[in-house]
Amino acid sequence: MRPDGVPAGNNSTVHPDPPRVVEQPSFLPPPQTSTQTPTQDPAGPRAGIPGPALQALAQECGSCQACGLAQGREHVVVSRGNPAARLLLIGEAPGAQEDAQGLPFVGRAGQLLDQMLVSVGLDSGRDAYICNVIKCRPPDNRRPTPAEIAACRPFLLRQIALVDPPLILLVGATALEGVLGIKGGITRLRGQWRTGEGEGLAGRALMPILHPSYLLRNPSREQGSPKWHTWQDLKEVKRRLEEGT
Ligand code: URA
Repeated sequence: MRPDGVPAGNNSTVHPDPPRVVEQPSFLPPPQTSTQTPTQDPAGPRAGIPGPALQALAQECGSCQACGLAQGREHVVVSRGNPAARLLLIGEAPGAQEDAQGLPFVGRAGQLLDQMLVSVGLDSGRDAYICNVIKCRPPDNRRPTPAEIAACRPFLLRQIALVDPPLILLVGATALEGVLGIKGGITRLRGQWRTGEGEGLAGRALMPILHPSYLLRNPSREQGSPKWHTWQDLKEVKRRLEEGT
């Protein structure tokens, strides 16, 4: 099973015969512009600085021993981005790069995620707050267990409450399951807004999207491809942000 929850080799059954390219996502720019990086504006007016409550939460995460992952971590990976953003991205778990740097989504998948956001005019440092369902790296990058997800859930719920985002992106199948309890079906459910219910989620709109690790393994940008669909999904997110939801 891949991190996005899709069985290996299943991609062709979703889009068995992709049509000719009509429109391509711009998050893999042509070679001459491939050095483009997201503009970071840490000093900008919307670059929120974590308030005392988020700082306290980060400190608590740092000393957390609630599950066995504490033993193997180099860093607890709490968040990056803008705590004042109206968009929250929730991924699965830190990988090696994230564990080494103490920041979520800074490896290859994270770089692709940033590029995809840039392609729709969003800056991950300014327009989003980014975290994971669990804050410590599982060994060998295995999927987090239900017990690990449950142990970390209070931290995630506090992050959601403190950032208070109207829009949440569930990045990959583990986030979809870990936040909404929906097992499987991300290729069917991606791109659809869902209305949050219950603790911490009521009043928020949540959209599952494909995990960038999956997109790295499926690099086609043709219409109907996973990357193309993700581009459509992110354009819809941008539209909703502009609408002022
Ligand atoms: N994948 C995730 O889901 N989260 C990260 O932080 C990095 C990779």
